[in-house]
Amino acid sequence: MKRGMIGFLLLIGILAGSSLGQAPKCTLSAHTEYDKKIKEYTTEPYFITELVDHLPLSSCVPAPDAFLHHIVGAPDVLDYTKDINAYMRLLASKSPRVKVFSIGKSEEGREMLAVVVSDERNLARLERYKEITRRLADPRGLKEEDAHKLIGEGKPIYWADGSIHSPETGAPEMLMELAYRLAVEETPFIQKIRSDSIVMITPLVETDGHDRMVDVYMHRKKHPEDPPYPLVWWGHYVSHDNNRDNLGVTLALSRNMLKTFLEWHPTVMHDLHESVPYLYIMTGTGPYNAWLDPIVISEWQQMAYYEIEEMTKRGVIGVWTHGFYDGWAPNYLLSIANNHNSIGRFYETFGNGGADTRVRTLPAESTSRDWFRPNPPLPKVKWSARNNINMQESAILFGMNNVASNGQQFLNNFYLKSHRAVEKARNEGPAAWVFPADDPRPAEQAALLNLLEMQGVEIQRTDKEFRIPAATAEASDKGRKGEDAAPAAKPDRKSSDAADKKPADTIIPAGSYVVRMDQPYSRLADAVLDTQYYNPRDPRSYDDTGWTLGALRNVKTLRVTDVSILDTPMQKVGDVTVPGGVRGEGNIYLINHNTDNTLASLRFRLASVAMEAAEEPFEVDGLKFKAGTFVIRTVDRNQLDQAAKDLGLKVHATRSEVKVSRHPLAVPRVALVHNWQNTQNDGWFRIAFETLQVPYTYVADTKLRETANLRQSFDVIILPPMGGGGPAGLSSIIRGLPRRGDPMPWKNSDETPNFVAPGLDSTDDIRGGLGYSGLANLEQFVRDGGLLIAVQTSAALPVAGAMTDMVNVTDARAMQAPGSVVLASVDDKRSPIAYGYDDKLYVYFRQGPVITVSTGLGGPGGQEGAATGRASGRGSISDPDVIQGRPYIAPEKQVKRTPREQELYIPEDTPDAARWFLPAHDAFPRVVLRFAQEKELVLSGMITGGNEIAEKPAVVDVPHGKGHVVLFATNPMWRAETMGSFFLVFNAMLNYDHLSAGVAVPATKTATASAGAEDQE
Ligand SMILES: [Zn+2]
Repeated sequence: MKRGMIGFLLLIGILAGSSLGQAPKCTLSAHTEYDKKIKEYTTEPYFITELVDHLPLSSCVPAPDAFLHHIVGAPDVLDYTKDINAYMRLLASKSPRVKVFSIGKSEEGREMLAVVVSDERNLARLERYKEITRRLADPRGLKEEDAHKLIGEGKPIYWADGSIHSPETGAPEMLMELAYRLAVEETPFIQKIRSDSIVMITPLVETDGHDRMVDVYMHRKKHPEDPPYPLVWWGHYVSHDNNRDNLGVTLALSRNMLKTFLEWHPTVMHDLHESVPYLYIMTGTGPYNAWLDPIVISEWQQMAYYEIEEMTKRGVIGVWTHGFYDGWAPNYLLSIANNHNSIGRFYETFGNGGADTRVRTLPAESTSRDWFRPNPPLPKVKWSARNNINMQESAILFGMNNVASNGQQFLNNFYLKSHRAVEKARNEGPAAWVFPADDPRPAEQAALLNLLEMQGVEIQRTDKEFRIPAATAEASDKGRKGEDAAPAAKPDRKSSDAADKKPADTIIPAGSYVVRMDQPYSRLADAVLDTQYYNPRDPRSYDDTGWTLGALRNVKTLRVTDVSILDTPMQKVGDVTVPGGVRGEGNIYLINHNTDNTLASLRFRLASVAMEAAEEPFEVDGLKFKAGTFVIRTVDRNQLDQAAKDLGLKVHATRSEVKVSRHPLAVPRVALVHNWQNTQNDGWFRIAFETLQVPYTYVADTKLRETANLRQSFDVIILPPMGGGGPAGLSSIIRGLPRRGDPMPWKNSDETPNFVAPGLDSTDDIRGGLGYSGLANLEQFVRDGGLLIAVQTSAALPVAGAMTDMVNVTDARAMQAPGSVVLASVDDKRSPIAYGYDDKLYVYFRQGPVITVSTGLGGPGGQEGAATGRASGRGSISDPDVIQGRPYIAPEKQVKRTPREQELYIPEDTPDAARWFLPAHDAFPRVVLRFAQEKELVLSGMITGGNEIAEKPAVVDVPHGKGHVVLFATNPMWRAETMGSFFLVFNAMLNYDHLSAGVAVPATKTATASAGAEDQE
């Protein structure tokens, strides 16, 4: 990319030089053909403004129609990425006011652009303007008077980006016309934007999905009688969620946009979306993100209301704000700007899923007059792609003109926000976040620190141990405070609460990492590491309500408010790496299981090396090892050492006898299932697997239907969340796309050249879903010894398919859980799925399902001394009743049972005939992970009615035939945020053929002895 850019800069230089000379010869005239078509394609006069009802014709710079052979917003046509990019490059080659930069490539190799449009004079000084925004972004050491000089000299940068969501197709078209208009038009309004600001345009954020969308749309246009193709892959991995990647930053588009942002520091970043009518301008209902500087909240309102007013003045109908999105979660593409002290905002215009013109009838909730929508959309209107273009382009031009006209104010605010972010440490606090040096998961710790660094956050490392008052250091995962959450920090909860005792100090060990809050991007770090409280009385949340990354990634963090930490000696570090390799002598190699995900990478990297899992904790050479520890007895030491170094894993070599029961760790053949309707959720699983280099086969539901002997090909089949849960969701999984008309191949062809790329799937026919035979094939697979992992909404499938004795799943009745971080505890420490985990784990939970385990014999409840626990009668609730007319006999004491005991409870007087219905005791389901009780359940975010899942199973392992079904009520691989839960999946996979290890049977002792004997070579 670098080489290309240099070449390109040279080219631009030559062209700019020559064009400058020719500039006076360029003339503008009316482009009557184009103007006529704008008018023709606009359905009503109240869907256009004077800014866009025409397009000037330049004698030097080709208008869009000259290149595209249609005007922007023409019906029934969309353009591919290569053509949009080529037009932008053509503009740059013909106009001295346009430069094009490549900002990186998509997963499938398509190029993303930043098209910069401004005056020739500004473009000649582009590096200087970038230098100014860079300096204002980090005002440390910058004197206030120098800052104001820079603000006076600088230009605001307005970055508009189109189509992160592939079915939303208007923006890339509009942005071509906008770039051309900004480059050539000579009205004072446009001249203002050009001379007093720098416009940046990324016409396409999601290039891969866009090209597939154009295939799908144009195919539909050419074959209106055929069943329409769904857009199976909106991008290479995920669908709509590509706009939720800014906590994990795993997609190429997120990385490219972030990198570009950190190079340019645009004042405004503006995403162009399409959904609600006709133009929604983002402010949001609140609650607004609590870590942002309040200045930016005002800027959202000011900008939105300015544009609404300008549009409304011109008689445009249906431009509004507020009541759509909330402003809470910092995970959207536009969050890149808000998280870095700039302004992130978006539009939703009314799309038509392509470039159709059709009558749209709207429901009352879209057309009602509300305080935030005094000029609402109409109940029924003919809508066109050109209307959409008119609305987007007019409003964003007002936005750009507003920023250009008030450039000093916007740059000053940017400087102020950056400045106040640096002051945060000593002003509102906290002073810093600490990542203790003795985190048992160094690889996950490093991964999180490197993610923060990629976001522009600076990381420091302490030189020596230091102490701070315990009351000023708080583990962000408050549920574990004072115990295993921060062994480095031992704040005595009681003593800090009690006034008569001196609070203990918190010890921060040498080599701990510190994220100081006196740096420009302190707010970003604070927002992602802190806990979130979301009041259920607030407006309905638009997305996740909680996201605490330390908890979700099972990495320890300490929130420190004592500012003395800022004066502690520490050094700025670059990339955080974890030392690994083999230490010690001997030819038995032990790797403690700490749930660092690179352990899974190691298993697959050294696939041919026999490895075993210890089934219990043990000690060797005075070192403690957890259950699940990898034991390797035959390996080339150098090979293992190299792999361990690369993956940051510590290996202990020993000559000592390792006396612990163990079983082989598999290298399973894993199938990851997708359907042909929606690939959103499986995409996050694919990213996790690919990042960790864990191999898998991407398999369609239709393939499962057609493959009788799945066990021959696979050991583990994973069903990521599919469908919507409940009977309707099940039905949709089994039915799939209706089998109407002819087979629908998903393959590249002349008409659909972009359907398939390496890593995606293809088929002769996408119709038919899993079918009854697919369900039967899955059941056979499990009976034959396979492991089926069913996550969230997919958990209903094996339950309905009769593969889960004693286990049921239901949808929540009244619970509202839109996406939170919740506490769970390991319920069965001997289950291989729990290997390496501490007693408690924070997991991501969203809405369900509710999993229940029961013998069906124990009756409901029983474990709590509930308030409803006795009949009406004499005395009080705790006072026994006395039945009249007979001697008093004290009632049986109510037995308290743990949730687990209650689930597996078989009353003594159960007749043998009833026991016959239950499986053998060692085939009972095992609850591996269980949600905490209601009062401890939520760490971050909002859940109402949490009693529905409190103390219920979160992960259950159910034996079936020779195999197992593992059900997840949580999503362990969610948006590259839940690294702490990944190993629940990996453990299940690596131990798929030994999941019954450690099951509570009395024979365990002898098994240990015999395994120990085997050890002696
Ligand atoms: Zn969208």
